[in-house]
Amino acid sequence: MKVKINNEKCLICGMCASMMNEVFDFNDEGLPEANNENITEDNTQEVKEVMNNCPVGAIEEIHEEE
Ligand code: SF4
Repeated sequence: MKVKINNEKCLICGMCASMMNEVFDFNDEGLPEANNENITEDNTQEVKEVMNNCPVGAIEEIHEEE
C-alpha cells in the first residue's frame, strides 16, 4: 500500500504524524509527507486507521495499477 497527502486539502493539523510518526512526518517546508517505504503488511491496517481519522480526508491511497 502507498499513500500520499493531498496538500490542497490538508489542514496541517499534525494528527497523522502524532498517530504514526514512522509513516507520516513533516518535511523541511512544514508540510506532512508520507514515507511509503515504512508501510509494511504489518502496519497497513494502522495506516488505514490514520487515513480514516484525517479530519479532511487528505490522505489518499495511490493505486499503482492506474
Ligand atoms: S491528519 Fe490530515 S489534515 Fe492533519 S496533517 Fe495529516 S493529512 Fe493533514
